[in-house]
Amino acid sequence: MTTTPPPSTPAPSGRPATYDLVVVGAGPAGATCARAAALAGLRVLLLDKARFPRAKPCAGALSCQALHQLDLPLPENLVEREFTGGRLWYKDRCIEAHKPYRAGVLVRRERFDAWLVEQAAAAGAEVRLGQAVRSVADNNGRVLARTADDTLSGRFLVVAEGASGRLKTAVRPPDRPRDYTFCVCADIESPEAMGDVPMDIRFGIARAGYGWVFSRRGEVSIGIGEQGDRLTNPVALMHALLAANGFPATTRLVGHKIPMGGVPRRVAAGRILLAGDAAGFADAILGEGIAYALASGRLAGERLAAHLAGSDPEPPAAAYTAACQASLGEELRQTLYLARCLRLAPDRLLAVILSDREALSRYIDILAGKLSYKTFNRWMLRRLPLFFWRAMVGGGLRRAGGVAPCTPTRRE
Ligand SMILES: Cc1cc2nc3c(=O)[nH]c(=O)nc-3n(C[C@H](O)[C@H](O)[C@H](O)COP(=O)(O)OP(=O)(O)OC[C@H]3O[C@@H](n4cnc5c(N)ncnc54)[C@H](O)[C@@H]3O)c2cc1C
Repeated sequence: MTTTPPPSTPAPSGRPATYDLVVVGAGPAGATCARAAALAGLRVLLLDKARFPRAKPCAGALSCQALHQLDLPLPENLVEREFTGGRLWYKDRCIEAHKPYRAGVLVRRERFDAWLVEQAAAAGAEVRLGQAVRSVADNNGRVLARTADDTLSGRFLVVAEGASGRLKTAVRPPDRPRDYTFCVCADIESPEAMGDVPMDIRFGIARAGYGWVFSRRGEVSIGIGEQGDRLTNPVALMHALLAANGFPATTRLVGHKIPMGGVPRRVAAGRILLAGDAAGFADAILGEGIAYALASGRLAGERLAAHLAGSDPEPPAAAYTAACQASLGEELRQTLYLARCLRLAPDRLLAVILSDREALSRYIDILAGKLSYKTFNRWMLRRLPLFFWRAMVGGGLRRAGGVAPCTPTRRE
């Protein structure tokens, strides 16, 4: 059972001289970590450089896998739209599949993230927004986080600064361009945004990368992503995708990285733990990262609480690393295998995937939290000969003009 550790001595200002835990970054990873640790009785400080609600470049797909990681129900008013499947394009071919059950929901990140921060505060974490941390240090049994006008001290520190930022280099080197996906994207207000299918994913736009058009209530998220060292002229690609969907070239574009999960990375050292994108935890195929951010944030908070309560004598860095390996490591490696295969032979692999609706249907079950990547990859390997035969005779493939939406709908 977790017990409450002795409170830290308050500083003259009223705040503790030393927090049990300082969390840098209040995205899904940091807010979830702060909530888990505060619920276990730790004195937690959650810092973010932004004031919430803040924008975050993201398509806003919360798979059921991600929803399972929340320890409380997602309020219905945050749900922009549910999805049961989607449409997958490869150049001018497309396939569509749906399940009779929900595979996930679309949210607006500014609202979802602000709600997570509220939950952290409600659990007892002290939240300070608009405070950029400039450096962190692990010295003499405590950690320090320096902002422009303060130095915060803690027994442990979780860096949840996302994919950008350099605080994570206290634990590991920065990612090489081949270890992340670079995205260019836009959110576009559009009264007609409720297209017939919420999720439209397009391969064949950027070499082995992808594009997406996700249709929320009154808004479209549109973007492209490709491995960092392979993407040439992303703005031109994005303009082509915008034009094909009837959006102007003057649309404001944002660029952002998503780490490729499965690449070996150190995730903790001494008293500093990394969570979420900072640790490199995101699906290497389509960049789903929220589920892993929620999972790793909670693991970090719980491992630290167990250690400070005396119920886990193992150093938290080792305990957290082992916990991440056990619950996230294999899945992330499997996403990387599949991503690497896609990048080796995109034409062949995508042609075979589009030749069989069952492949897409099973992929949707990964999002729905009913199938692991490991099982999916094994199934794909066994089916490859059949796939190749079908792709050769063209069964199951559809052709549609350019990248205009196609109309097939099949519900199972
Ligand atoms: C274009 C795009 C589309 C995506 N679409 C999806 C999707 O549909 N579904 C999905 O599951 N995932 C998606 N992802 C991935 C997902 O956005 C990330 O995996 C997820 O946000 C990671 O959460 P996090 O808490 O680790 O980091 P973030 O959400 O990036 O949060 C990090 C926080 O740290 C703060 N911060 C950074 N530096 C400092 C500092 N020095 N001091 C204080 N605060 C700091 C930032 O302000 C930010 O609030 C997408 C990513 C991109 C780029």
